[in-house]
Amino acid sequence: MPAINGSAFLERIRQLQAEIWIDGQKIKGNICDHYAFKGVLKSKAALFDLQLTKDFMTYKSPLTGDRVGTSYLQPRTKEDLEKRRLTTQEWAKTSGGMMGRSPDYMNAGVMALGSAWECFENKEHFGQNIKKLYEHARENDITFAHTFVNPQVNRSIGYFDDDEAEPISARIVETNSSGLIIKGARLLATQGGITDELLVLPIGGNFIEESFIYAFSIPSNTPNLKFICREPFSCSNSVFDHPLGSRFEEMDTIVVFDNVLVPWDRVFLYNDYNIVNKMYEESKFYPFLLHQAVARQVIKTEFLLGVAQLIVNTIDISGYQHVKEKVSEIIIGFETMKALLLVSEIEAKEDKRGIMLPGLNPLYTAISTFPKLYPRIVEILHLLGASGLISIPTEKDFNSDIKGDLHHYLQAASGDAQMRTKLFRLAWDISTSSFGGRQTLYERFFFGDPVRLNTSLYNSYSRENAIKLAKSLLDTE
Ligand SMILES: Cc1cc2nc3c(=O)[nH]c(=O)nc-3n(C[C@H](O)[C@H](O)[C@H](O)COP(=O)(O)OP(=O)(O)OC[C@H]3O[C@@H](n4cnc5c(N)ncnc54)[C@H](O)[C@@H]3O)c2cc1C
Repeated sequence: MPAINGSAFLERIRQLQAEIWIDGQKIKGNICDHYAFKGVLKSKAALFDLQLTKDFMTYKSPLTGDRVGTSYLQPRTKEDLEKRRLTTQEWAKTSGGMMGRSPDYMNAGVMALGSAWECFENKEHFGQNIKKLYEHARENDITFAHTFVNPQVNRSIGYFDDDEAEPISARIVETNSSGLIIKGARLLATQGGITDELLVLPIGGNFIEESFIYAFSIPSNTPNLKFICREPFSCSNSVFDHPLGSRFEEMDTIVVFDNVLVPWDRVFLYNDYNIVNKMYEESKFYPFLLHQAVARQVIKTEFLLGVAQLIVNTIDISGYQHVKEKVSEIIIGFETMKALLLVSEIEAKEDKRGIMLPGLNPLYTAISTFPKLYPRIVEILHLLGASGLISIPTEKDFNSDIKGDLHHYLQAASGDAQMRTKLFRLAWDISTSSFGGRQTLYERFFFGDPVRLNTSLYNSYSRENAIKLAKSLLDTE
């Protein structure tokens, strides 16, 4: 089957009827019409439509010859990597990078795992299972949510969740001829329940216990699988009032496995310490996820630069030196992220499977830079926008008897009151609304704890040349 269009995607999600709980209610009826999901589902559907209009966003399937999504492409050349980047950025432009979980994010991960299928192969054919999952996903444009993280009960060094009868962290409580039975919870599946499948992956920390060593993907409507939503941040469906939230609110969910049966043909890791310790390194999972994430972050930074400059122009504050300095700070951030992304492609190398891997060090540098850069850009929007970020009447106000007041008192140096309000509502939805607050938290944490990311960089980065250079200058005689 070729790459799908937006309505095929929506129809699939409508039919899923995954068990999703929101504000004390189980969702019934068509999820595509639900107030908390209709905006993001419409925006995702538009991504599939867009994919069909640009040649570089699809390629010929090696299996069927059909055109399939480039986010599933196994890159063999630097040009393929560039094509993957352009695809991500084309999609990211539609939301200013606000949709962290456009389908290409986890598609990159599934492509990486599927390309390294031999790493998982055993007498139960787990390697074949992940290979088939990748091929099935590619051929049908399947979308994934994913979960890595155990519930945040107790993060102290010695803590271990050892309650086998009533586990908190999802674990295997039984195996039988049909598959694994999983009980417990996982965090924090963004878009949980509104993607075709849920990919469940292991994370470090609990590997002393075999019941935590598993990886699989299951349909989101698997019996006894529950997604518990936080409060929605879309707030309303008015694009004027909530320009970002109304369209790109992705929702985050706690995932509960209430004795979920995972069929054996869906499992690609079970109780193998050797594989769990090497699967991410072997599959090059992180370089590909990072290449997608940084490509999106570059677009997001450019979008915020544009919003900052529009604020400067609209209320004419460009004459102040500190304003120029602040906008320049965003420019420097944008150019730095862009350069790191491009260096990762320049430094790309073919691996033993003939897959072209982007350079990891520039990508790790970028993902460690962004959790500090993004909150600073948000702060700059606050500092430039000031009370403008809060003097933002609604669409209904502009259609009411007070519209005359609004048009008079909210006019700007360049532009009328309505245009100015639209711009400041956009800046507010980036920086100040609940949607905006979640975006900042997302960029701090979605790729893991920034503290531990920096430690990984410290541990993995080769400093031999640097030390050699330093030593050469010690010998000054
Ligand atoms: C908006 C959002 C969306 C997300 N979406 C997803 C998703 O779709 N799928 C998914 O799997 N995950 C998702 N995550 C979760 C994300 O992966 C985690 O937030 C991240 O890995 C950090 O884990 P934690 O939140 O459990 O923080 P914790 O590990 O509980 O950290 C809390 C604090 O304790 C410190 N700390 C804890 N343990 C240690 C340690 N060993 N060493 C040093 N310091 C430590 C941390 O530095 C931090 O300051 C999302 C998170 C957010 C905020």
